[in-house]
Amino acid sequence: MAEAKDVYTFADLKDWAAVAVDLDLPARFSVFGDPVNHSRSPQMHNRGLKAAGVGSQYVRLHILPEELDDALDALKGAGFIGINVTIPHKGAVFEAVDDMTEVARRIGAVNTVAIDGDQLIGHNTDAPGMKRAIREEFSIDLTDLRIMLIGAGGGAGKAAAVQCAMDQCERLVLVNRTVEKAEALVADLDDLFVDPDKLEGPVDRLVAIPWEEKAMERELDQIDLIINATSVGMKRTDPEVVPSHLIRPHHLVYDMVYAPARTRLMADAEAAGARAANGLGMLLWQGALSFEFWLNEEAPIEAMREGLLACLNE
Ligand code: NAP
Repeated sequence: MAEAKDVYTFADLKDWAAVAVDLDLPARFSVFGDPVNHSRSPQMHNRGLKAAGVGSQYVRLHILPEELDDALDALKGAGFIGINVTIPHKGAVFEAVDDMTEVARRIGAVNTVAIDGDQLIGHNTDAPGMKRAIREEFSIDLTDLRIMLIGAGGGAGKAAAVQCAMDQCERLVLVNRTVEKAEALVADLDDLFVDPDKLEGPVDRLVAIPWEEKAMERELDQIDLIINATSVGMKRTDPEVVPSHLIRPHHLVYDMVYAPARTRLMADAEAAGARAANGLGMLLWQGALSFEFWLNEEAPIEAMREGLLACLNE
């Protein structure tokens, strides 16, 4: 019996029965990416699979863009139950699946696939993962919040915006350096902001603004939750995501960045008396929701959290 390799390739997948014959546990779950060796999903999921007594394991597959369609086909005969999809495949897998959940359809990207016979069913757990993380961190639901989302032009920002809109949040202010992308998203989401139970207030419920101090200042008094969905904050030399003097004690601040664990935005928020959290919970909950999508049982969240924390602290 052999332990799984750190990374497998498309050539391995094509010959999976022979390649996996010696594995101590059958590989039924995987992450597809290019690159993929940085993915911490195996450490998180393998703890969860063990804790739940599933009797199989999760492996990394390095799949190049030109191999993707054939790799998805090869999965069907190889005994896999589900995969996650990471950079750069989320858009291409959206095009390739046979069916998908409404949230994935709205986002236009798939990060989770369940293999059901010869059908591939897509889902996007990044967005509901963020929702669960925010509930866990701040004990409040998106539906009750006035939200400013910074970085609405990226993949994570779009996913978050769709979830906020599907949950009928009180207000959604989309901020982006390239404001045209935020404006396009407003046009996409407009139909979700017609809840007759929510009274129209003095300010628009859904707006796009540029990533500029004056524009943000005008909105921030009418905001409860600030979400950073840009990559700003990953480097020490990065600029402020929100000018620190604009953060108020009533703000909740969610930074999708999780490395470093305490970003400049979080430090600024805490200095202003606001509550702040990093993106680790989102990473954890997107994994937990993938687990539930594949196995139709509650994810062992504490075991998965331990697996994730252990590898982040390595
Ligand atoms: P992306 O597609 O590259 O999106 C980048 C977004 O950030 C765009 O809106 C972009 O604005 C904005 N941006 C980038 N650099 C900027 C700068 N210097 N100044 C102002 N705006 C800037 O990235 P992504 O995949 O959506 O990821 C965004 C962040 O979320 C990353 O930090 C990623 O690690 C994090 N993330 C975390 C999780 C989690 O589980 N915690 C999951 C997914 C992503 P323009 O449109 O103007 O270019």
